[in-house]
Amino acid sequence: MNFQHIKALKELISSPKTIAIIPHKNPDGDAIGSTLALWHYLQNKGHKATVVAPNDSPKFLKWMPGAEKILNFEKDNSASKTCLEEAEVIFTLDFNHLGRVGQMTEYLEKSTAVFVMVDHHQQPADYARIMYSDVNMSSTCEMVYELISYLDDLDAITPEMANCIYTGIMTDTGSFKFKATTSNTHRVVADLMDKGAENTAIHHRIYDTNSPSRLHLLGCALNNMVILQEYHTAYITLSQEELDRFNYQKGDTEGFVNYGLTLEGICFAVIFIENKEEGILKISFRSVGDFSVNDFARAHFQGGGHTNAAGGKSDMNITDTINYFTSLLPTYKKELTA
Ligand code: 5GP
Ligand code: MN
Repeated sequence: MNFQHIKALKELISSPKTIAIIPHKNPDGDAIGSTLALWHYLQNKGHKATVVAPNDSPKFLKWMPGAEKILNFEKDNSASKTCLEEAEVIFTLDFNHLGRVGQMTEYLEKSTAVFVMVDHHQQPADYARIMYSDVNMSSTCEMVYELISYLDDLDAITPEMANCIYTGIMTDTGSFKFKATTSNTHRVVADLMDKGAENTAIHHRIYDTNSPSRLHLLGCALNNMVILQEYHTAYITLSQEELDRFNYQKGDTEGFVNYGLTLEGICFAVIFIENKEEGILKISFRSVGDFSVNDFARAHFQGGGHTNAAGGKSDMNITDTINYFTSLLPTYKKELTA
């Protein structure tokens, strides 16, 4: 974060403000962790802050301190709109273009608040007056820690905040294994533990609270996996019928895509998940090495993200989408090397 922006942020929050803090739609651990950590921080500093999420979060994130106070734009629609209208400052966390908040986009676009972006995705849009964008960061949560450090206020990190920040770093780094995990990430995490983050309990609450039906859905997903050895690619499909059969709950497919990458010789893994209600397939892309799934998702599937993790969607049915997807692979054959 450059000096100018740190100074502007210090000034902006030097007196009590009405603040909205926004995660992206279908929020993950990093989105909820970073917004709640910042929410605790700003509340403790005397601001009137509210987290307004475009939609609900998965059950495995509901334990997070403050999660019960999050406004859900779909469910708490009028309170959410009031909050966005009244906000003098809007923090957008873990996304970098306004299209990522679904139906909330138009309300953010017409807001006159001062926008502050904190985010680690590629190609940020230009809507924020104060911008902290760093694609080399492991997670937005690590950036929230750094932000508080820039404000010379690390002592203000409470155990609740430490738990929130730890969670987002843990989930976005695949439990500290992805390439963006640096020695600084580990130093931050160590300090968070000193400040009260309950590392073992967090791991348990996120990863060890499966329902039997979720594991059965995973079985179905793995059964459906197609391996295209020639392109070092593995993909999974899940139809709406399969999701219904295994009593799909929000968040149940989180992490499924990563199984493709655990295969020896596979560097590109994809999952296509049908959503009949929205009339789309939601797609997750993962890679190891130099193949940029951000570029791939942007070019062909109306999406984006990071070099090794991105999302997108398709308006076609499963069969047509898979045909289109596989027709693209020969173009990338040289890049798809494990
Ligand atoms: P996931 O596959 O877990 O939904 O997302 C992987 C990464 O890509 C996350 O960092 C997420 O924020 C980002 N991402 C997911 N879907 C989209 C999308 O439609 N557009 C953009 N720009 N990024 C996305
Ligand atoms: Mn993130």
